[in-house]
Amino acid sequence: MSSGSSNKPKRLLLLGSTGSIGENALRVIAALPGRFQIVGLAANRHGERALEQARAFGVSSVALADPAAATAARQAAPAGVRVLEGEAGVVELVRTSGADLVLCAMVGMAGLRPVLAAVEAGMDVALATKEVLVAAGALVCATAARTGARLLPVDSEHSALFQCLQGARPASVRRLLLTASGGPFARRPELDLDHVSVKDALRHPRWNMGRKVTVDSATLMNKGLEIMEARWLFDVPLERIEVVIHPESLVHSLVEFVDGGVLAQLGPPDMRFAIQYALTWPERVDGGLPQLDLIAAGALHFHAPESERFPCLRLAREAAAGGGAQPAVLNAANEVAVDWFLEGRMPFGGIWRTVSAVLARTPPSAAATPTLDELFETDAWARREARGFAAAGAGF
Ligand code: MG
Repeated sequence: MSSGSSNKPKRLLLLGSTGSIGENALRVIAALPGRFQIVGLAANRHGERALEQARAFGVSSVALADPAAATAARQAAPAGVRVLEGEAGVVELVRTSGADLVLCAMVGMAGLRPVLAAVEAGMDVALATKEVLVAAGALVCATAARTGARLLPVDSEHSALFQCLQGARPASVRRLLLTASGGPFARRPELDLDHVSVKDALRHPRWNMGRKVTVDSATLMNKGLEIMEARWLFDVPLERIEVVIHPESLVHSLVEFVDGGVLAQLGPPDMRFAIQYALTWPERVDGGLPQLDLIAAGALHFHAPESERFPCLRLAREAAAGGGAQPAVLNAANEVAVDWFLEGRMPFGGIWRTVSAVLARTPPSAAATPTLDELFETDAWARREARGFAAAGAGF
């Protein structure tokens, strides 16, 4: 072990501290006293909770992306705690934090500018926000290559791949196998997917997550987004990243090597494992997490995804292969469609009909690596198109 790794606490900046990843990260940090120092917290609008966290962990800098929430928090904040405001405030917090590692779990495109600021400053980023690599993978990875910043995955599948790939030469990898639970509708051919309810879609068999990602798991769009994440994180071509349905969610992903050997990473479906690994990497420590009971787990099952019934996987692959702005379009159209589904204004199948229609209208991109401004413009355009499509009732 190098001498600097274990003595001094690692300086952590938490972006998205009040969401489920953020709260779980704080549980991990609390379980490993002396190992981390939190140098800043950022949230969207839950100022009261962010201030509680700041008090509990002795943090003197908080940023709230929502300006009204920032104003309220500034009045409530104890002396000595500064409250930064807006997206610019979150970016300023990143730039002034002096963090060794930035954990980004902000929702959606809100994570993009802060992550890019961290990577530009050469800070390592533990990444939970999928959209950052889905929409801006080329830009973020090119920047990281230039500054030497490392991207550490927090998504359970990518953490699994990252763990299996420790010490592996890139040329020794044949395939990445991403596992998916399949969601509540997998292998239920009797179900008419246009008549499943929001409640049913939100009933995820294994993981307890936010509503958006739970619906994405049910459509398999989540796995499509994860193919894109994996491609950027591990620099493996799309056609060598495959998806296998694994309902028990205990094997979090696998790597097949050129000699035919396959490594898998297993663990209970608890996001603290992936969070802890990203925070403590390259070390492994005992954080008191639950042990895997293989005997209780019994049989593990694997089967192929039902690509005909769940077209999101194909749409995501097409957008990824198309490159340029297409992944950002897919992501934005999907977010709008999932919202409409959750509000009861669109059937489940309307999600992929909307995404497919908006992708079909996307002009081919000129640039392989769109700039940040181009990505935000594309994102806004795709949202308008998706809303227009949905408002016209075309999702039905
Ligand atoms: Mg995942």
